[in-house]
Amino acid sequence: MKVLIVGANGKVGRLLVELLKAGGKHTPIAMVRSQEQADALEASGVATVIADLESTVEQLVSVVHGHDAIVFTAGSGAHTGYDKTILIDLDGAVKVMEAAEQAGVKRFVMVSGFGADRREAWSDAIRPYHAAKHYADRLLAASTLDYTILRPGRLLDEPGTGMISIEEGMERGSIPREDVAGVIAAVLESPATIRQSYDLLSGKQSIGDAIAAI
Ligand code: NAP
Repeated sequence: MKVLIVGANGKVGRLLVELLKAGGKHTPIAMVRSQEQADALEASGVATVIADLESTVEQLVSVVHGHDAIVFTAGSGAHTGYDKTILIDLDGAVKVMEAAEQAGVKRFVMVSGFGADRREAWSDAIRPYHAAKHYADRLLAASTLDYTILRPGRLLDEPGTGMISIEEGMERGSIPREDVAGVIAAVLESPATIRQSYDLLSGKQSIGDAIAAI
């Protein structure tokens, strides 16, 4: 599959690009927002497309067109204001969904956030971020797309263990970004995860076994 990774220059995005490239089954296409980022990825043999989530749906239709799947792992980050949270984490995500529907790209994997589905789980410090993730996920679930929503806990930069828990309604926890990338890659292979949403944390089952059990 040709997999468009939105947020490919981010921490999870970079790990996923490398994983899909190494796996050899899929072709990752990295959506990034600068020529410099594109040049660095192209130098390592990764195809790129330059686009910004603040562009129009029409522009994004031409970006997503021709791909077989989209992974959304972009985010405005902790160093911008809540205006960017609305414009990227919410509206940016929804514009990519609209573009995917218009371009006929059905498969869509969303990297959401732990607790986004439950208001009572939102922490006061970043409540607008949780709200943005919540409504992006709700619109994805109401779309015609073959979605999988992953709600990972706190992301860690330490090496992955390959051991996870993936289900609904878990207690708060964490997971290495490398394992999130591993789960995204596994989910792309699993039709059983289509139109499903999961919490995702480090756990006791291998990624392969956990996804095969779904
Ligand atoms: P990250 O390193 O901050 O990467 C986010 C990417 O989004 C960056 O590459 C950034 O591009 C891109 N981006 C931002 N604005 C954009 C725009 N206007 N157009 C196009 N791309 C844009 O994020 P991460 O740590 O890999 O996290 C991946 C996902 O997990 C995010 O959705 C995040 O919200 C979610 N999440 C995070 C946590 C956590 O503990 N941090 C927990 C659960 C879920 P540049 O590289 O150009 O800046």
